[in-house]
Amino acid sequence: MKRKSRPIKNIVLSYFIFGILWILFSDTLAGYMINDLNYYQSFQSIKGIIFIAVTGIFLYFLLKTNLKEITEKEQELYQQAYFDNLTSLPNKRSLYQDLSSKIEHSQNNRVQFSFAIFYLDLSNIDNLTEIRGYTQGSDLIKKIAKILKNDICNDQDCKLYSYNYNKFILVYNNPGKNIVYQEEANKITDIINNLWNRGEIDYYIDLKIGVSTYPDSGRDVETLISAAQLAASKCDTENKEFQIYNHYMFLDKLELENLKRDLRTAIKKEEFELYYQPKLRCSDHKICGLEALIRWQHPDRGMVSPYKFIKLAEETGLIIEIGDWVLEQAFKQLLKWQQKYEDQISLSVNLSPLELYDEHKIKKIKKLQQQYQINKDLLEFEITENVLLDNRGDPLQILKQLKRLGFSIALDDFGIGYSSFSYLSRLPIDTLKIDKSFIDQLNDQKNMILIDSIINLSHKMKLEVIAEGIETADQLKTMSDLNCDQIQGYYFYRPLPLSELKVILAEEFKTTETS
Ligand code: C2E
Ligand code: MG
Ligand code: MG
Repeated sequence: MKRKSRPIKNIVLSYFIFGILWILFSDTLAGYMINDLNYYQSFQSIKGIIFIAVTGIFLYFLLKTNLKEITEKEQELYQQAYFDNLTSLPNKRSLYQDLSSKIEHSQNNRVQFSFAIFYLDLSNIDNLTEIRGYTQGSDLIKKIAKILKNDICNDQDCKLYSYNYNKFILVYNNPGKNIVYQEEANKITDIINNLWNRGEIDYYIDLKIGVSTYPDSGRDVETLISAAQLAASKCDTENKEFQIYNHYMFLDKLELENLKRDLRTAIKKEEFELYYQPKLRCSDHKICGLEALIRWQHPDRGMVSPYKFIKLAEETGLIIEIGDWVLEQAFKQLLKWQQKYEDQISLSVNLSPLELYDEHKIKKIKKLQQQYQINKDLLEFEITENVLLDNRGDPLQILKQLKRLGFSIALDDFGIGYSSFSYLSRLPIDTLKIDKSFIDQLNDQKNMILIDSIINLSHKMKLEVIAEGIETADQLKTMSDLNCDQIQGYYFYRPLPLSELKVILAEEFKTTETS
């Protein structure tokens, strides 16, 4: 710092000396050189101009030097803030900044975009540092950073970050499927292990790699990094060098097995219950339908979210049995409402993609229809675009059969994942449900334009449009202004147990329910 400010001091000092000399000797010098008084007077003006010119030159150099120092200082501060001192790699702050802007870009522009985070944990280098001192530990870290940069992360689709002394993160843009992750992880492990095998280092590095992916493992930076860290921490328990994050990692193995076991008996023990969330017409805010949402009241854990157990049920195949139970309850309840409120209330039931691969599904639905004789117009099945992402069975065939039988179909969660307008024509749907993630960004102009187009397009295709997850009056107003047909969300009602819903329906339709 001191050294850098020396040029400024020198310039100021030179200017000071020049100024003194000029004041002291310029007149005397002029007196010797100019005898004519007229010339002498005009020389005074020239003297002033020379002084201003010299001052200007000094000022120019002063500013230039000063600006250079400020720029250098800024660069130094930037380097300190965004790069790791030891390895010179971009640090944690850079990582957060880069990933946030990637996610923001992908969400704002709704582009199909994914990236993978490889979290490299070299924790046992701590032991080396403790035993042989900081220099040896940090030399090894520097060596590994260099190897990763040159041999692994050497193209523009990969970026290497220093996360924390002995932890690195690699971010891969648009990675392929899991097999590519496995190959990449093997490559990294081989390179590090070879250092030891070839005798280039005399300390064995215990490397663990955890992988998380956007958007599957999480939709914000914090969650994605924690997911990769959790996956890395699972390497020990699984005795592996590499693990890809999955949503059950937060449960330990035993807990997971217990949960699966409990899920198997939950129907018999009557631990499931259907809650119902009202859907309202935008025009008059009257209830026009309900969505059935399953709840699991676990004897020890309390209420378990369907976000957690539906996936588990899908993995274990139990979703078929659970889906059958939901459907039977829905038919039963809908018949009661039909008798009480005539045709004023429709009911939607969520179907897992796996249920659409069940070849007996149609037979089961026909049987329920025979038994309960409901007005088919009042029952709607909610599906997600995932039905098309798997090549098991023929879900389209089942959907077409459902339509032929007279039931309606809604496309749920439109806007997350790889939602594309082509689904609107490929799937035999009657209703489009705009996902909450769209509704949460209503203040973004581009997003508004997109929603407006989705609604217009849907209307042209004779589809009804529902906005999910309306939580505020502003969101409600915007969606009404955009001509959305129905709304659903906490602003009006949360999903309710039957006991609470009965009171609301009775009030809404001004009658008292007895069933
Ligand atoms: P979904 O079908 O998209 O249901 C909407 C979810 O958003 C529900 O969560 C609902 O409680 C929640 N939600 C509604 N309005 C708001 C709001 O204003 N703000 C917020 N933050 N959330 C709101 P829930 O009940 O936890 O269900 C989660 C998902 O589980 C459902 O998403 C559906 O995919 C699945 N699911 C629920 N019940 C069933 C079922 O019986 N069968 C199948 N296969 N899946 C089900
Ligand atoms: Mg739904
Ligand atoms: Mg939804």
